[in-house]
Amino acid sequence: MSNLFNAEVLSVHHWTDRLFSFTVTRDPGFRYQSGQFAMIGLEVDGRPLLRAYSMVSPHYEPTLEFLSIKVPDGPLTSRLQSIQRGDTILVGRKASGTLLLQNLLPGKRLYLLGTGTGLAPFMSIVQDPDVYEMFDKVILVHGCRQVRELAYQERLSKDLHQHEWLGEQVARQLAYFPTVTREPFRNQGRIPSLITSEAFFEELGVPAPDLDCDRFMLCGSPAMLKETQAVLDGAGFSEGNMSQPGHYVIERAFVDK
Ligand SMILES: Cc1cc2nc3c(=O)[nH]c(=O)nc-3n(C[C@H](O)[C@H](O)[C@H](O)COP(=O)(O)OP(=O)(O)OC[C@H]3O[C@@H](n4cnc5c(N)ncnc54)[C@H](O)[C@@H]3O)c2cc1C
Repeated sequence: MSNLFNAEVLSVHHWTDRLFSFTVTRDPGFRYQSGQFAMIGLEVDGRPLLRAYSMVSPHYEPTLEFLSIKVPDGPLTSRLQSIQRGDTILVGRKASGTLLLQNLLPGKRLYLLGTGTGLAPFMSIVQDPDVYEMFDKVILVHGCRQVRELAYQERLSKDLHQHEWLGEQVARQLAYFPTVTREPFRNQGRIPSLITSEAFFEELGVPAPDLDCDRFMLCGSPAMLKETQAVLDGAGFSEGNMSQPGHYVIERAFVDK
């Protein structure tokens, strides 16, 4: 069996001139855990051109959803941004990644801290019932430059609350905190600054983080990850991985070349 499968594009949504999302068919044999990523792409000049992408859709969804940047001269996304319903993309059968609940020590509150397309893995996690069994409260912080880059606002603040069997847990346990840095909005500020500000925790109605109760997942730009990790390390939190669970886990939203 090939390590790639063909997936048919079912829908495409353009959020901005730099950001779009799309859904595709899912091979029934493709298994993943919420928070993981896979290699996806297009056939270019007879060869697969693949990049890592986090699944937005939770593990139980019959279709797959992805959130993508549009890099004007990016080898993949300069092409991928033109896909339309009925087109075919390639999806790798192997899912991987560190943003897994099992890589965290037990706790009360889980912070999902994402910037830009770093929201993608957290979309699947907040739609996974396991997260609400493991944590009393799940706090999703999504940081962007501009308000219109805050993808999935409606789904997070309304639709998920009405979800057939997850809605009640979401309404009770999920706090969604969108924040922007470059224009006026009800929440402003960068994630590393927010998590050191008393006002942020007061606004959420939770105590300041402590080692026994609070866990973190981070996904964003290399700069955001570095700064946020420094704040967490400075407060005594330790990074978890596949062999040893910790207070926080990290995934890069992209690699700067
Ligand atoms: C673990 C992992 C998960 C990823 N998940 C996603 C995802 O869910 N959605 C997604 O759009 N991308 C994701 N990426 C990035 C993705 O793999 C590609 O880099 C991206 O699709 C651009 O591909 P490209 O060939 O057009 O340009 P590339 O040559 O891959 O990238 C060119 C440059 O564009 C910038 N860039 C690339 N991706 C991004 C991004 N997402 N946000 C801001 N700037 C970026 C970087 O500066 C990079 O050096 C992920 C990367 C990793 C390592």
